[in-house]
Amino acid sequence: MKVVLKNLTKRFPSRTKNGADVIAVNNFDFEIPDGKLIGLLGPSGCGKSTTLNLICGLEPPTSGQIFFGDDDVTRLPPENRGVGLVFQNYALYPHLTVLENIMFPLQNLKGPEKMTKPAMREKAMTAAKLVQIDTLLERKPSELSGGQQQRVAIARALVKTPRVLLMDEPLSNLDARLRLQTREEIRRIQQETGVTTIFVTHDQDEAMSISDMIVVMKDGVVQQIGAPQEVYDNPVNLFVSMFLGTPPINVFDGKVENEKLYIGSEAVLSVPGVKDQPVSAAIRPEGFVLDENGPFTLNLSRVEVMGRDTSVVSTHPASRNVTVRSIIPARNKVDRSARTVRFSLLPDKVFLFDVDDDLRLPFVVE
Ligand code: ADP
Ligand code: MG
Repeated sequence: MKVVLKNLTKRFPSRTKNGADVIAVNNFDFEIPDGKLIGLLGPSGCGKSTTLNLICGLEPPTSGQIFFGDDDVTRLPPENRGVGLVFQNYALYPHLTVLENIMFPLQNLKGPEKMTKPAMREKAMTAAKLVQIDTLLERKPSELSGGQQQRVAIARALVKTPRVLLMDEPLSNLDARLRLQTREEIRRIQQETGVTTIFVTHDQDEAMSISDMIVVMKDGVVQQIGAPQEVYDNPVNLFVSMFLGTPPINVFDGKVENEKLYIGSEAVLSVPGVKDQPVSAAIRPEGFVLDENGPFTLNLSRVEVMGRDTSVVSTHPASRNVTVRSIIPARNKVDRSARTVRFSLLPDKVFLFDVDDDLRLPFVVE
């Protein structure tokens, strides 16, 4: 099911008497293709949950419309929208068994949709198999691990065959290893069912790894929409470049003169097409190439071995972060006794941004 958001806006009145209203979602315009998994990503408070609440009908929009396929669902109550919901806290009924929890949404069906008990059981069993908890059906939620509880919650969201599946930080209560495993499970389940899914997270790694497309939000405003790799490789502004990637991108105060990027007194890269101006220069950790004759000199702090790669930690007076982190292949040896380390830069890993509006200043990569 295709989901269309048209100029969707949600304004909350200020909580204080003379304060400004909060625009939690500002003019969100997006057509989510059928059967895709969309990662909605951004820092805490940027409007992710509000967006989900608008889509499922828990909150009415201030303005704008929501369509599921050709159906305008903007005024429909949540129970008539055909959405499945999964939240961070699993919200299972503690006194019901796993099977009863999964069957629960089917028991309230009325009229022609009303189901017999055996039919409900069968549907619940199918959902339980899909999330691989069909051996735990008689347990109570308290007898399950966090990961298993979240699977029950997912099965419960899927049992009515929703038109759209909405998940709000579903992995945040799980420990690191289980989070990795469960996100792969969610991807598998989504692909097996083909249900259009919106997955909210503040964790860029999580969103990047399982989404067909990511939507990056900040202060209620969509910053960029695209395939994860495309957004990583071509951030439209400084915020997006900083939000994606671990370790994070390194940002420097720089300037462009005669189509050369200067950081400090060194001309570190050729940037054809950019006018003379001060810039924010952002360099991905993998954009540094160890090079004893390289143009970019950093003060070496330490070298961290990470197995496959080596992380070179250094400082630079023009760096906006306390340290600069570069990632190089482990076979490239750094002289740890040296006070400085020199690099050349990979042009497609360097982004320039306007210092006033933070927008990207493209240059020709030769
Ligand atoms: P996220 O899920 O990205 O952390 P939210 O959608 O929960 O962000 O919140 C977005 C903004 O809207 C925040 O500034 C939050 O304080 C505000 N907000 C959310 N819900 C309400 C509400 N019911 N009343 C007033 N302000 C709200
Ligand atoms: Mg939230």
